[in-house]
Amino acid sequence: MNKLREIVDDTIQVLEHMKKSGTTHVEVSKQTLDELNKAPVVVKPKASQPTGDFAALATKVKACTKCSELARCRTNVVFGVGNIHAELMFVGEAPGADEDEQGEPFVGRAGQLLTKIIEAMGLQRSDVYIANVLKCRPPQNRTPLPEEMNNCRPYLLEQIDAIQPKVIVALGATAVRALLDVEIGITKMRGNWYTFHNTPIMPTFHPAYLLRNPPAKREVWEDMKTVLTKLSRPIPKMK
Ligand code: SF4
Repeated sequence: MNKLREIVDDTIQVLEHMKKSGTTHVEVSKQTLDELNKAPVVVKPKASQPTGDFAALATKVKACTKCSELARCRTNVVFGVGNIHAELMFVGEAPGADEDEQGEPFVGRAGQLLTKIIEAMGLQRSDVYIANVLKCRPPQNRTPLPEEMNNCRPYLLEQIDAIQPKVIVALGATAVRALLDVEIGITKMRGNWYTFHNTPIMPTFHPAYLLRNPPAKREVWEDMKTVLTKLSRPIPKMK
């Protein structure tokens, strides 16, 4: 029975790897299914539940006071949310008022628009991972200071190292600057691939910009189609 259990565990690992690599289905014979049904149920933590080092990182960040002004003004540290085994990761700038209040990134109006974009891609928020460059809200939503970016960037890099997404979407100029260390405008960079530590990055407009400039949604959708193609995922038809 232990041997069978090992086989089931190995099969699950292989299938998870295939899913992460873009495979959407596999053919399984009835005989194999019958054998698998005889195996004991293996209970594993849900993919979205932080475990081990990732949970320790979250605990460390939530106690961080490296930026004295931000640490003093914040209601919550906004670490990140989603599937820690996600193949797609979104990185934004910093929490706003709603995010600071609820302790979760992208939950305000811009966040609701991001959720719609994710769903238009045929995914759910729980399928991807969402984080910001800064984990604490700058007062009055001012642009993050260079020193604050330097303080918080290592946490984002640790998140990326742990999640190892296949693709990162950088939302807006601040996220692009934090990841790629360039000062080129987002309008010039969006729609083109860049690389960060061997991970492809697609810069695109921040959802907050889309709220002010709805016509730019068309360009973001083009960028998301490029991302889906990179992930070998189907491109849903826009409703
Ligand atoms: S923004 Fe980042 S580095 Fe600054 S206090 Fe918050 S968690 Fe720490």
